[in-house]
Amino acid sequence: MPDIRLLNAQNSHSEAPVKISSIKAGRTWNIRISPSVDRSKNPIRETLASITANAPSTSKVPINLGLGDPTHYPLHPPPAAAIAAVECAVSGGRANGYLNGVGSMEARQAVVDYHKRWDGVDYDASDIVLTHGVGQALDLLFSVMIPPASVERANILVPRPGFAQYTALLADLDAEIRYYDCIEENDWEVDLDMVDQLCDEDTRAIILTNPSNPCGSNYSREVLKDLLKVAERHKVPIIADEIYGHMTWSSPFTPLASLSKSVPIITLSGLSKRFLVPGWRFGWAALHDPLGVAADVKRGMAVWGNRFMGPNSIIQAALPTILATESEWFDEVIYKIETLAKIVYQGLSDTPGLSTTFPSGAMYCFAKISRDAFPDLEDDVAFATALYNEEAVFVLPGICFGMPGYFRIVLATPSDVMTDVVERVQGFCDRHYRL
Ligand SMILES: *Cc1c(COP(=O)(O)O)cnc(C)c1O
Repeated sequence: MPDIRLLNAQNSHSEAPVKISSIKAGRTWNIRISPSVDRSKNPIRETLASITANAPSTSKVPINLGLGDPTHYPLHPPPAAAIAAVECAVSGGRANGYLNGVGSMEARQAVVDYHKRWDGVDYDASDIVLTHGVGQALDLLFSVMIPPASVERANILVPRPGFAQYTALLADLDAEIRYYDCIEENDWEVDLDMVDQLCDEDTRAIILTNPSNPCGSNYSREVLKDLLKVAERHKVPIIADEIYGHMTWSSPFTPLASLSKSVPIITLSGLSKRFLVPGWRFGWAALHDPLGVAADVKRGMAVWGNRFMGPNSIIQAALPTILATESEWFDEVIYKIETLAKIVYQGLSDTPGLSTTFPSGAMYCFAKISRDAFPDLEDDVAFATALYNEEAVFVLPGICFGMPGYFRIVLATPSDVMTDVVERVQGFCDRHYRL
């Protein structure tokens, strides 16, 4: 039996007088936060808020072609077997525990099998880290590959036009962001000379998005091979964001890792786009390192993967079934997107003041607004704002992708909605066109 007086004595420090002498009288609350917060704002969310700040002046039904979310309308139901596997994982009661931080062995093996089946690339389960979507995979890789400025200088190459999240995630890290162009006249292929010129001894990685958001392009084998040559010469690894991998129609998709015999490739993929379930928040990073020169990156990925104990156990348990989805289901989805691509391409090509390249992958059409064609709309944000106001059609201006003078249409609606969109955009352009 502990001596009660002793316990009281031990606790007695709580009764010690509070030292108030060192605190200035009249001190007010002043909770400060990191300046990184404002630097990391995602421009898409911000622009969306400004364009939709006022309700449209038309009574037409609003059509949202802004956010790249294929479930908004929805485009197509997710694979039935995937839904059943998730239900089963929940009701089975055996998928509720903590798993290895980089993902369960079974789930990582399912990713290995998936890339073998679709990409013809051999990974080992130890090359895979499962994440909360590709967004977290990017965050993880950036943290692993970019040192603090106090240690070493670093830069990273990012495509323009490109996915805004790269910039948002890099904003609070010490890497200089160097944008390389994708060339519209060349089906939005990478400007290889520019990549070559931007690389130096401090370049940590080149980010490639293929198929591209927002361009809707699908790079040719030749360009990808040439990009590998540039990376090989500079000895720079490539982060291949292939979240839209195999979502192509005009020509087959070429996984970058399948071409690389020497350059380390970190392939990013997941369930958000190809499987039409972005809310499930599931993705991964897969390291292809044919020469074994990126062992530190592999170690870093494993260490960082353990900081958050991996993505949720339910989807991990269902993953082998989800990733085994039969080819026919993907074919149905692709057919629908291709149909929308044709409707939009035809419609916009016939519209004075607009032009576009035929999208061949992902789920986007990126259209150019001719300079001077619409004198009352000073830029792409004014164009998108007026389009929303007059026609209740919401599209994202190019500035969200680092490319003013363009706008992006998401190809993920029923086809009658897209036909309606084209008519409204044509009517809008006819009204404003002055040339
Ligand atoms: C939508 C998208 C992603 C997906 O990110 P998740 O975090 O997996 O939902 C990644 N990269 C690009 C280019 C995208 O458009």
